[in-house]
Amino acid sequence: HNFAQLGLPSSFMGIIEEKLKFTKPSSIQAQALPSIMQGRDFIGIAKTGSGKTLSFVLPMLRHVQDQDPLEKGDGPVGLVMTPTRELALQIHKEVMNFAPKLGITASCCYGGSSIEQQIAELKKGTQIVIGTPGRIIDLLSANGGRVTNLRRVTYVVLDEADRMFDMGFEPQVTKVFSQVRPDRQTVLFSATFPKKMELLARKILQDPIEVSV
Ligand code: AMP
Repeated sequence: HNFAQLGLPSSFMGIIEEKLKFTKPSSIQAQALPSIMQGRDFIGIAKTGSGKTLSFVLPMLRHVQDQDPLEKGDGPVGLVMTPTRELALQIHKEVMNFAPKLGITASCCYGGSSIEQQIAELKKGTQIVIGTPGRIIDLLSANGGRVTNLRRVTYVVLDEADRMFDMGFEPQVTKVFSQVRPDRQTVLFSATFPKKMELLARKILQDPIEVSV
């Protein structure tokens, strides 16, 4: 497999080959990209280092490109939940290798830092939000709910889902999903897949393709 065979647009290929200098997709990328790009819900059992981030980032960028531009007051179209600030920053960095060149905006929202700047960014409108569940909940309720909303979200990622549960984020994750339209595309990545998570996955994903690497 090479990246072009996976159906990525040429604008993406240029960045992957010339900027990132990746020559071929990793195993999880080769297996995940075609299904996720088709719009399928997806469960990927893969660890950090597998290249899992690009597996959900590239289809998210493609998905966002296909949507109408944001209008005043619109919230994001793509939403990524991840357990820690470090992971949020790392995903944001991978998104920003592509987003500006594609004319896409993305914001990173995590706890333990000033919420004011994040509020200002979200108020301006941003097509992609990457964040930790607690801070996302805080931002949704800030200023009486006038900062952002999830009404336009149609692509959601749960990254490192097992760690998210170990850290006790299940109530926040469930609350976020309760505000996202049911006909969204949902992608879940996790290093392990315990029974408890399978139960949640059944509630939030529809007819998912499952791949383990
Ligand atoms: P991840 O598992 O997503 O955290 O990715 C681990 C590292 O692999 C990151 O530094 C990526 O930039 C890098 N990476 C992702 N995809 C590829 C690829 N196809 N070829 C080489 N390196 C990659």
